Amino acid sequence: MNDSTYRVLLYYKYVQIENPAELTDAHLQFCKELGLKGRILIAEEGINGTVSGTFEQTETYMNVMRQDPRFEDMVFKIEETEGHAFKKMHVRHRSELVTLRLEDDINPNEQTGNYLSPKEFYEKMQDPDTVVIDARNDYEYDVGHFKGAIRPDIESFRELPDWIQENKEKFADKKVLTYCTGGVRCEKFSGWLLNEGFEDVSQLHGGIITYGQDPEVKGKLWDGQCYVFDERITVPVNQVEHNVVGRDHFTNEPCERYVNCANPECNKQILASEENEAFYLRACSHECRVHPRNRYIAEHGLTEEQVENQLRLIEETKDTVEGK
Ligand SMILES: [Zn+2]
Repeated sequence: MNDSTYRVLLYYKYVQIENPAELTDAHLQFCKELGLKGRILIAEEGINGTVSGTFEQTETYMNVMRQDPRFEDMVFKIEETEGHAFKKMHVRHRSELVTLRLEDDINPNEQTGNYLSPKEFYEKMQDPDTVVIDARNDYEYDVGHFKGAIRPDIESFRELPDWIQENKEKFADKKVLTYCTGGVRCEKFSGWLLNEGFEDVSQLHGGIITYGQDPEVKGKLWDGQCYVFDERITVPVNQVEHNVVGRDHFTNEPCERYVNCANPECNKQILASEENEAFYLRACSHECRVHPRNRYIAEHGLTEEQVENQLRLIEETKDTVEGK
């Protein structure tokens, strides 16, 4: 079996699941037997998953899932990949598919924004009365987003409702478009926007992944890459042109390479070139650089003297930059 026969499946379905804990155990067993790897969440409100496997494994998974009346119309987004996109197989029982923790929870089967096809989204996005809100986190936005989309200043999805309420005047009287990676977040978020009194709310059906694969729009008006929650970290979207919008954390140069801050207590994802990763000891700040458990220092077996030397070089660079 060669590497090019691997695929990633991205899917979700909001549907009542009576026995989520039981299904979680049985589903983990099933996925492991198939040889899939990935992350699946199961809640009373449905299922949300990303899995990777060979062509045959993923094909069998989709066929078996569709035999279950609850999932018979499940939409699977299929991407080709080289090898597995995960190290392990996890199936977890959660209270929500996406963590919003709303006081009045939204059931997207009862209330959600209009679904727009990639073509419809592409056209409506260019209407001057429309505002496009990215429903993802700041670090996802930073490596790629729709041209002109609003970037909520949030680190996790559950901060989004508060952010919207605080910034409401920016979207007053506008038609609102929302998008996220595969669509699962927008199902709830767009429903919540309707509850908040926004009148014209639509969502990108199938998310960015579907948009990038659409044969007609070909990912147009997307800048950069799409952040994904697996080992690929980012995937391409725009098939026509590629504008790099990510910026190196240290030098602000164009960059699309994510690393995790070497301080295990921080672990923040930052964009950094290989060169800057080494120079700045893969740390987002001075505090993280000198953290006693800095992973970069440990991995490279740097001596105290070498670290001291590097810190001095970093100080000197700072002086030159600030001296300009
Ligand atoms: Zn850090």
